Amino acid sequence: MIIQVRKNIPQHHIDSLLELVSGIAVDMQDNKYIITPSGIKTLPGQFDDITQHHWVFDSDIQLSDPAFMTKRAVNLGHGFIGGDLRNTVLIFGPCAVESAEQINSSAVLVKSLGHKILRAGSFKPRTSPYSFQGMGLEGLRLLRETGDKYGLKIITEVRDATHVEEVIAYGDIIQIGAKAMYDHGILRRCAKTDKPVLIKRGFGTTLQEFVQAAEFILSGGNENVILCERGIRTFESKTRFTLDLCGVAWLKNNTNLPVVVDPSHAIGYAYGVPDLARACMAMGVDGLLIEVHPNPKEARSDAAQQLDHQSFLQLHESLKTVANAVNRNII
Ligand code: PEP
Ligand code: MN
Repeated sequence: MIIQVRKNIPQHHIDSLLELVSGIAVDMQDNKYIITPSGIKTLPGQFDDITQHHWVFDSDIQLSDPAFMTKRAVNLGHGFIGGDLRNTVLIFGPCAVESAEQINSSAVLVKSLGHKILRAGSFKPRTSPYSFQGMGLEGLRLLRETGDKYGLKIITEVRDATHVEEVIAYGDIIQIGAKAMYDHGILRRCAKTDKPVLIKRGFGTTLQEFVQAAEFILSGGNENVILCERGIRTFESKTRFTLDLCGVAWLKNNTNLPVVVDPSHAIGYAYGVPDLARACMAMGVDGLLIEVHPNPKEARSDAAQQLDHQSFLQLHESLKTVANAVNRNII
């Protein structure tokens, strides 16, 4: 249950009631709220005097439930996604920062197409200890410098809580990867910044668990949360993962958060990325996250799925046509 507290209720009174229901206090836009476990379905009598309004939920999807708040808009710095806007943000760049030359070339591509966000990871959550783990802090600094040089925002991922401070300090948008989305150290720290946080769905994560991970960030005080579907593991092995577009439709219908899709990690092969990206644009997603590398064959991670610049330029042209057809603005 979410309880909106009336104005001018003394804090000590709120605190005692919080304890009564094991609630979490959240301040949003000049209002105070108490969030209880969703198992509480009727307003306890002690709350009668302090309650402005209350909402009851089927499950612990509460702050992100559209019954509580209609679509949230998240400010990316150069524009908003979500809300009642029809904006789709294109976020692209290499899987990982690999060198000054490589990330510079990626930034030039972003800039030349008039886009504003450069993506690249520097703390890479690899499935093998023997593969490239990312450039770490050095790469993060390089990414920041390159972003600043071209006036671009950067999105980069946090792999674990040991470097969450640095990623929040250097990044403009914080990415929580599919493998990191259960890490409470990361979730709770990202709740304490107001920078936008893009959280990816784990590949074995139900929609309920995914949105509950987002609720950790929302209930901790950060309202700027973006969901990202990036493929789930199924029995199919011809593609790297299976892009769950049913899940995307469900998230669009059942949450108030912007929904971004990453087709690159989903299929795992560059040949399919343009078709999936166009399909997602046609679905009206709030953003696309696409891996693009100046020389994919040489990429130190996710080589098979990264588009080269020429292929991305073609995709970019075709996305404009699809966006027009479904009345979306590319930002
Ligand atoms: C990435 O975006 O490079 C990445 C590691 O993605 P995911 O967390 O979805 O595997
Ligand atoms: Mn990758």
